[in-house]
Amino acid sequence: MSLSPPRLAVVTGGIGGLGTEICRQLARAGRHVIAVDLATREERLAAFRQELADSHDAVTFEPADVSDFDSCQQLISRIEQQHGGVEILVNAAGITRDVSLRKMTPQQWHELMQVNLDGVFNMCRPVVEGMTARGFGRIVNISSVNGQTGQFGQTNYSAAKAGVHGFSMALARETARKGVTVNTVSPGYCDTPMVAAVSAEIRQQIVDGIPVGRLGSPADIARAVCFLAADDAGYITGANLPVNGGYFMSF
Ligand code: NAD
Repeated sequence: MSLSPPRLAVVTGGIGGLGTEICRQLARAGRHVIAVDLATREERLAAFRQELADSHDAVTFEPADVSDFDSCQQLISRIEQQHGGVEILVNAAGITRDVSLRKMTPQQWHELMQVNLDGVFNMCRPVVEGMTARGFGRIVNISSVNGQTGQFGQTNYSAAKAGVHGFSMALARETARKGVTVNTVSPGYCDTPMVAAVSAEIRQQIVDGIPVGRLGSPADIARAVCFLAADDAGYITGANLPVNGGYFMSF
């Protein structure tokens, strides 16, 4: 009996707070995982390698800047030559440039858009044709509750994250008949370096507003990603899965 090779998963922002756990859970679900992140984060990369030593064989690292289209194209052709077609893509790379609009510089607007929104296009574009040709694909884009509700000081971030969901719904329609699903996961506030950067007072206010009574964990988010990335999740597409402890409820 010949076993098919593990599905190949690429996770951008793969060595970040959420990305690391997404890589870990996908590897534990039997995927061959490639974490993609900035080459400049050497210290974090060393820690990442240590943390994932348990799933060492199943997770490798490739440097790329998702805001650069050519860098993404080269990355995907390098991966596909070495390992075969990308079957699962998780776009988790993201940055914040928080400041109220009246003080926001064009640079703070564009830098954020280039990573959080262009980055999703730059990564989806080189993988989508292979996925549809092979008749299987799972794309999960990490959005945010703040894309649904808006947030003070985050016109750039909220616009990009809402845009990610619009992008996902449109691409879901284009690929639905070819076995490729495209969904977003919208985390609420999670216990990661991104949220640790917020002052203790504000953090407490955030926790007070979460019905479940705590920040989300990276494992909470990774669980949702793995669910949508599963082979048998083929009937869920164009959906947004909120994982926010009840912080924002809608239907
Ligand atoms: P993080 O800062 O820990 O990780 C983000 C990763 O993206 C980092 O490793 C960073 O190096 C990488 N990255 C940044 N720019 C990049 C680029 N140009 N090319 C490649 N990689 C790049 O943040 P996180 O908390 O893990 O967030 C992951 C995703 O989840 C982000 O998209 C974020 O907006 C979203 N999110 C996070 C939270 C939260 O509470 N942490 C809530 C909602 C949404």
